[in-house]
Amino acid sequence: IKKVAVLTSGGDSPGMNAAIRSVVRTCSFHNIQCVGIYRGYQGMIEGDFKEMGPRSVHNIVNKGGTVLKSARSKEFMTVEGRKKAYDELIKAEIDAFVVIGGDGSFTGAEIFNKEFKFPVMGIPGTIDNDIFGTSHTLGYDTALNTVVECIDKIRDTASSHNRLFFVEVMGRDAGHIALNAGIGAGAEEILIPEEDLGLERLVESLRKSKAAGKSSSIVVIAEGDKIGKNVFELKDYVEANLPEYEVRVSVLGHMQRGGAPSCYDRVLASRLGVKAVESLLEGKSNFMVGMINDKVALTPLLQAIKGKTEIDRELLRVSEIMSV
Ligand code: ATP
Repeated sequence: IKKVAVLTSGGDSPGMNAAIRSVVRTCSFHNIQCVGIYRGYQGMIEGDFKEMGPRSVHNIVNKGGTVLKSARSKEFMTVEGRKKAYDELIKAEIDAFVVIGGDGSFTGAEIFNKEFKFPVMGIPGTIDNDIFGTSHTLGYDTALNTVVECIDKIRDTASSHNRLFFVEVMGRDAGHIALNAGIGAGAEEILIPEEDLGLERLVESLRKSKAAGKSSSIVVIAEGDKIGKNVFELKDYVEANLPEYEVRVSVLGHMQRGGAPSCYDRVLASRLGVKAVESLLEGKSNFMVGMINDKVALTPLLQAIKGKTEIDRELLRVSEIMSV
């Protein structure tokens, strides 16, 4: 392998730039060439490539988003689209690529690898932390810190006005962000898709906390929560059943996906980038690089795509005890 390409694909997340930098500099360290592919798989199809050296990635370790831009490509989901991408890679004499993205991006890489016997490696980049084969995805830690900071601010106004706040956070079908940021920010209740608390128990718990003398409360709700109501319907329901509460809703939204990556995400990105390139140089392919028990480890892409992450049940208990 003499030339490795790197691309970011799907939704962006903080730490992607630090991972791009790591891939580029690891290539340079091993005296091989590196090419940046712009706009994900769409840019691969269109040959939107740029040679990158160690100096072309200076001052990005601390930047959110992705300097290579990201995209979703319908064309790459077709055989013709992937053939075009393959032809462009061959034309540019690229021998392997590292894709930084989520399970959709890994599915694309996996299929591409099978079709063309082309070496690929994946680095998990999403704030949702919903990828099997790694304890942390790039951007997750930063998103947790952002959410905790926001809830701290919301708490100031909640306690000044004796209000109950429902804060909706991202995470897609997983409750990792809600559960961890909820504990970190001292939430009263945390609603996550993995555990159906039930409306009655929520109302009961809020009634109890009022009786226990709490004047304001924060309830953190994962966007994928399955309680059967969206956050605004939930507010109406709680207000109808607990007239003593005035509820306000805050949907945090895309701010959770941006911002400078945390130190953890920068170190993670650096480690995963090194491992991705060095694994390709060792002749390995079709793996995702992740963290297992605090060590960098490879998981077959197919397993990373198909496997389901689980929440730590211990955290549910901790959260319950903390809101006594
Ligand atoms: P996010 O966390 O934002 O969902 P993701 O990587 O899962 O990130 P997707 O939009 O699902 O984001 O996938 C990114 C791109 O990967 C798609 O736009 C498409 O080009 C490619 N891709 C996804 N699924 C497939 C597939 N089944 N076959 C080929 N390519 C695919």
